[in-house]
Amino acid sequence: MTRHNTVILFRIARHTCVEKLANVPSRMILQKVKITNHTRVPGERFSGPLYRVILTLALALSALFTNCRMTQQTDQQPTSTPQVVTNRENDPLQIHRRAIAIDMHADTTQRLVDERLDLAARLTDGHFDTVRAREGGLDAQFFSIWVEPQLFGGGGPGAQKRADDQITAVRELTERQPQTWALAVSASDINRITSEGKIAALMGLEGGYAIDERLENVERYYHLGVRYMSPAWSVSTSWAGSSNDEIGQTRGLNDFGRTVIREMNRLGMMVDVSHVSDKTFWDIINTSSKPIIATHSGCRAIANVRRNLDDEMIRAIAKGRGVVCVLFYPAFLEPAGRKKRRRSMRRLHQWWKRRQRKRPVTWPIKR
Ligand SMILES: [Zn+2]
Repeated sequence: MTRHNTVILFRIARHTCVEKLANVPSRMILQKVKITNHTRVPGERFSGPLYRVILTLALALSALFTNCRMTQQTDQQPTSTPQVVTNRENDPLQIHRRAIAIDMHADTTQRLVDERLDLAARLTDGHFDTVRAREGGLDAQFFSIWVEPQLFGGGGPGAQKRADDQITAVRELTERQPQTWALAVSASDINRITSEGKIAALMGLEGGYAIDERLENVERYYHLGVRYMSPAWSVSTSWAGSSNDEIGQTRGLNDFGRTVIREMNRLGMMVDVSHVSDKTFWDIINTSSKPIIATHSGCRAIANVRRNLDDEMIRAIAKGRGVVCVLFYPAFLEPAGRKKRRRSMRRLHQWWKRRQRKRPVTWPIKR
């Protein structure tokens, strides 16, 4: 099967299974770009070719699965809805199977470290494992290297060790299951690995805590295989504001932060704006010479939370040939998502207490 003429990027929200994506409303369709058969997607470094892969082509996963439902439930549609004639060219599943589908952010990495999780088998909890990744047609997975600053420090050896442990865990995953996974650090790696029928494993650093305010650490993580970094997660760093705390309301990038962005540009490490404050976002737009990405963000016009992007931001990313990858997380997807989130969090909290009684673990729950 020829499967490299289209690339679809998507973000599966943490613990969200592919089956559930069928419920994503069609209004979340951001963009869908089909490239021609002669378009090449080679490359050795992310600064050039992978950017082109990612930024030339992009996502319509919600459309994909919404359309899946449409084809399966045609008899339930109102008569006023125009019928969609499905052929090989526009059949969502056909497109999906032909495409190289990349999930830009999975938080399963922490479970690999803390629970020594074996992804080879279908898990009874969470929503990510090799079996379901295969079933869902996933071709490449960016594993999030996430440091919870309140537990491991907003810098220093603790933060660095936490990041390094996760990187080791991803590498070990590819070594333990070489028939399924292979480490990728370039677009050409992804092409080669997917053509061998394997899933490419990539890494992105979520929050710049692990670089410990030292520029040389950006290169260190690049050499360890990290190919994107968001300057801040939910807690602001000294050099970049987060969308989640008070400091972030006024903090953008300082001089060091701008230097970090330029260093990432130089190395070929993508800049991820998911989680950063508005001020930091615009400072990044004005500093980066390369297209930027939002690996897991929603639309503020639909769900008005600071964590999402407003229309002006989305336009700015598109203007720079960047990509927004949708976050399939109800609180950031739906207009009333926050209320539902509170209900969900109550249920999650109850589940967490039950789980802790059975099998205590220490890894934190992400927001
Ligand atoms: Zn996140």
